[in-house]
Amino acid sequence: MDQQNQIARTGIPSLYYVKCPKCGSASFIMVGQPGAKGKSIGIALAFGAIGGLASAHAASGRDAVEPLQYHCKDCKKKFVAGPLEAMPDELLSAPATINVERVKSSVGMAVPQIVFINGVKVGELLNGRVMTFQTPLRFNTLVVTDHFGVAFKTGTTRFEVQPGAAAHFRFNRKYV
Ligand SMILES: [Zn+2]
Repeated sequence: MDQQNQIARTGIPSLYYVKCPKCGSASFIMVGQPGAKGKSIGIALAFGAIGGLASAHAASGRDAVEPLQYHCKDCKKKFVAGPLEAMPDELLSAPATINVERVKSSVGMAVPQIVFINGVKVGELLNGRVMTFQTPLRFNTLVVTDHFGVAFKTGTTRFEVQPGAAAHFRFNRKYV
């Protein structure tokens, strides 16, 4: 247990205070699940794709949130980190809505991509589809990976949303 888990009991996973253990940078991209490429995804689904994100107990209760591997953009080292429990001041007064559109493409069209928010898997996204879910946090990290859980190099984006607002992302191996 880290200190932040003992201080704040929001029950909401967050990457906002995650830092590179080597250099302290907060500038990183997700690599994917630790371990061999191609291993099946072992990350518990802490949230449902729709509506479940506001459930404060989802991540701290029976569903484990497993650590993921990140790549520091400053010192170039890789590190493994789990989401931390969000501090109360990270919470929005009303949840925001996130739409992630996978732009239709003939490359890899049959293969699902996987969407992660704040270090937690949301679900699989099929070619040409839009996934809609909510976030209770002001500062968010959105990642799209391939179906093995290996993040696309340009698949990590960090953004801020306002209470009750909606954020739209279009993705085709990078945000477009
Ligand atoms: Zn670093």
